[in-house]
Amino acid sequence: MIGAACAYYLARDGWRVTVVDRGAFGRGCSHANCGYVCPSHVLPMAGPGAVVLGLKALLARNAPLTIRPRLDPALWGWLWRFARRCNRRHVLEAGRGIQALLMSSRRLYEDLLRAEGIECEWEARGLLIVFRSPAAFEHYTETAELLGREFGVRATRLAGETLVAREPALLPGLPGGWLYDGDAHLRPDRLMSGLRRVLESRGVGIREHCEARSVARENGRGRALLVDGGEIEADAFVLATGALAPSWSGVLGCRLPIQPGKGYSITMPRPARCPRVPMIFEEERVAVTPFRSGYRLGSTLEFAGYDSSLDPRRLDLLTNAARLYLHEPGASPVEERWFGWRPMTPDSLPIIGRSPALPNLWIAAGHNMLGLSMAPATGRLVAELLSERPPHIDPAPYAPTRFQ
Ligand SMILES: Cc1cc2nc3c(=O)[nH]c(=O)nc-3n(C[C@H](O)[C@H](O)[C@H](O)COP(=O)(O)OP(=O)(O)OC[C@H]3O[C@@H](n4cnc5c(N)ncnc54)[C@H](O)[C@@H]3O)c2cc1C
Repeated sequence: MIGAACAYYLARDGWRVTVVDRGAFGRGCSHANCGYVCPSHVLPMAGPGAVVLGLKALLARNAPLTIRPRLDPALWGWLWRFARRCNRRHVLEAGRGIQALLMSSRRLYEDLLRAEGIECEWEARGLLIVFRSPAAFEHYTETAELLGREFGVRATRLAGETLVAREPALLPGLPGGWLYDGDAHLRPDRLMSGLRRVLESRGVGIREHCEARSVARENGRGRALLVDGGEIEADAFVLATGALAPSWSGVLGCRLPIQPGKGYSITMPRPARCPRVPMIFEEERVAVTPFRSGYRLGSTLEFAGYDSSLDPRRLDLLTNAARLYLHEPGASPVEERWFGWRPMTPDSLPIIGRSPALPNLWIAAGHNMLGLSMAPATGRLVAELLSERPPHIDPAPYAPTRFQ
């Protein structure tokens, strides 16, 4: 998604662009995620209380958040950097950087989809955060107030019956929820196929099943991308390899502390009593997305390295959670069981900017849990930086050199 968005805005600026993907275009982590475009999600994962959550995750076997303990210096370095940021000052600082990309992207999506005629089941129905325990519902008031006070993100409190009146797919008796009505959602695979069509119509080349290995240099600049079986010469290069970016640290000349944060989804037909509004069941960290053409349960976060197994126990967590909240947690047949590696940075901010090693090599990776929500603004920012135009948002919070 990030690479495709960069290609789109660069092509619009007049660059001749080739997208190179080691797999198929539009797969990776951007294929079957939950589809939320959520400007409400401004808070970074590292915040007060997150260290305790992290320690529990180290011990947990099958919880929504797990960390598989192993002797991996990159993982421990990541956790150390994360722990150092678990304070209020970081929440506010990182939140501003996250919000700038989210707000800009929310606006850009509407322009992009309309201008290019991309049909991806876009709907602006908001996002509902739902609770099962009265204590967790009450406790969330603090977060809702912080979001309103510090970031201007407003939510409506829906207690008891007003919640079910708003979303009749929910079981009666739940204590309540909060509705963020500025959020939207779309179907990610449809977005990717729509974008592909637009890119091709603008002359962007797409080379699939072609792995990039390195960048050949000449006179202190990148000359060509070295790919399987050859090279592609170019004036500039943008690395948007998501969770796989860290292996490029040497080429970029800076450390990229990105860990794969594995998440799962299950896609089904719409149940008869399908939710109207996308929802997050906050205590289980499970998300529900009703598409016009289907229905998806997704989420869980597992730090298990580059593990590519599809663990049925983690998939069960999704359906088991949905059963606690919904009249009809799912429908059959299951159309797809999927996992993706979220590109997680310790400060929850993406890494966007110029490589310290080569002046014509750029990076746009590390979008954590919000790559879909941040993609258009990232693409536009990258195009502005490459074209040496004033950026529409301040790139400083995303500097690639901040982890040195
Ligand atoms: C279960 C789940 C639910 C999620 N829900 C949401 C949501 O609702 N909203 C939201 O905003 N975000 C969500 N996310 C996060 C979002 O999916 C990611 O942040 C986003 O997809 C990252 O996009 P990306 O382009 O950086 O990475 P990817 O989509 O992984 O793309 C990276 C691409 O680089 C290619 N590549 C890697 N190395 C090479 C190489 N050497 N040569 C050539 N190609 C290479 C890969 O093949 C891949 O296509 C979710 C994630 C998960 C797992």
